[in-house]
Amino acid sequence: MAELSGAQIVAKSLKTQGVAEVFGIVGLPVGPVAKALIDEDIRFVGTRHEQAAGYAAQAASYLRGRISAALVVSGPGMMNAVTTLGNAAANCWPMLLIGGSSNLRLLGRGDFQAAPQMDAARLFVKWAEQAQDPRQIPFLVSSAVRQAISGRPGPVYLDLPGDVIEATVDEADVKWEARVPDPTRIEVSDAAVAAAIEALRSAANPLVIIGKGAAWARAEGEIREFIERTQLPFLATPMGKGVAPDEHPLNAAAARTFALKNTDLIFLIGARLNWILHFGLPPRFREGLRVIQLEIEAEEIGANVPTEVPLVGDAKAVMAQLNAYLDERPWQFDDASEWGASIRAETERKHDENVPRFASDESPMNYYRPLKEIEEALPRDAIVISEGENTMAIARQVIMSSHPRARLDAGTWGTMGVGPGFALAAQLVHPDRRVVALEGDSAFGFDATDVETAVRHRLPITWIVFNNNGIGRGTATLDPGRPVPPNALSPGSHYERIIESFGGKGYYCASPDALKAALADAFKQEVPTLIHVELDPKAERRQQEFVWWKR
Ligand code: ADP
Ligand code: MG
Repeated sequence: MAELSGAQIVAKSLKTQGVAEVFGIVGLPVGPVAKALIDEDIRFVGTRHEQAAGYAAQAASYLRGRISAALVVSGPGMMNAVTTLGNAAANCWPMLLIGGSSNLRLLGRGDFQAAPQMDAARLFVKWAEQAQDPRQIPFLVSSAVRQAISGRPGPVYLDLPGDVIEATVDEADVKWEARVPDPTRIEVSDAAVAAAIEALRSAANPLVIIGKGAAWARAEGEIREFIERTQLPFLATPMGKGVAPDEHPLNAAAARTFALKNTDLIFLIGARLNWILHFGLPPRFREGLRVIQLEIEAEEIGANVPTEVPLVGDAKAVMAQLNAYLDERPWQFDDASEWGASIRAETERKHDENVPRFASDESPMNYYRPLKEIEEALPRDAIVISEGENTMAIARQVIMSSHPRARLDAGTWGTMGVGPGFALAAQLVHPDRRVVALEGDSAFGFDATDVETAVRHRLPITWIVFNNNGIGRGTATLDPGRPVPPNALSPGSHYERIIESFGGKGYYCASPDALKAALADAFKQEVPTLIHVELDPKAERRQQEFVWWKR
């Protein structure tokens, strides 16, 4: 029988597991793996930094509802990808990182790029193993996939020493594994379903909160139906946006602060009470907040605030159970209640406050008007990526999501530099949808070179860089006689020239009209585009009653 190399066995195993693309950077010892992937018709997307590969792999996993992978070289290559494992763990997203490593036969002798890769990975992963013989690879790949996508999803790491990648074995000695089935969708007891509905009925100010766990679970159909039937007001977390459409009249997003402060009972669906939801604690929430928690991970129940009704199961399956219960015993939240009316009033007040910001013709621009122009130009099913402090926070308010899993951002870890990798993944997974990455100038700088990857792979992403010459608030000029402020970036930069140098199309916009024209032109291009939006360096978010990261 034919001989197969470790590299070929890896590629065939990934193929069986349904991996459609692998992102990474080749070099010793993983070059043969990338070549074997292409031989198996798995797309290999070479990035310019390992962070883009890791972020792309996790975003593709989340968007596909299965698993995607990153392939990196030994030592520094793998270490550059460790942050991406941390980000996937924080977001509860699956991904497979495959790291080439130094040769087993030279263990301890100071081999090229030797590093404690297993230890580094273990800080963040659900599972990590090293293959020591090519024949172990099919089993290890299937174990990795099963671990990553089951229960609470998360990253996994497979370590491949150079001599295992190169070694060949007789195909007859390889025991192939079957495709890992998609995880069982776990349901809850009838008693738990009844308790959840009873709790909702007993609340005066109930609020549904939809997180990215619900998006991962593909629970959008069931959640939309539940909202329609119960007429309960809802809020989404940043990446839970679009599971129920932002435009829905029951969306309390514009009245977020008011709704969180005044609700007496929240129904959390695939969302954690961490900093993003102000820990569920005062002063953002009432003392004695009641909680119904739909969550796949039992250990998460009761985190920070006691849970009155735990629903430990899969968001899609359990929401279907709740809807079935409502078939038998229909119930609707009183639409004429004081609670509903007060949320609507607050929403209108916020809307009126924003009208002048959206209409502002000022140049240099603030964030609101350009984001409104973008919102108006975007197709409804566009996938929007955003990062950078103000850019991301204000985009969250201004740009609506009608579709689930159409928002990706700095996430639970607040990681900057995710944008280029996320955009590559989104355009690859959804070739027919418009992908737009909104980037603060500082955030974009972390991985700007990866716009070249989009040019090379013909992925017509539009990057929009909001330039305020700095991290947070920028500076109009740099005084040569004084120390450079730590948050300053060079005034007068032209980010659009970065993409032009690689063969994409760039636009420099200093006014709302120029931006409108640039958007119209960019959305007609087949090449990737980058729109530089020149902001007033003093531009800021409107005064917030509470700051995100403080209690
Ligand atoms: P967000 O940032 O949107 O609030 P988090 O990442 O904090 O979301 O929380 C998502 C939660 O969803 C996690 O606690 C995770 O365990 C949970 N989760 C993941 N998959 C499922 C699923 N299939 N059903 C229910 N909950 C899930
Ligand atoms: Mg900036």
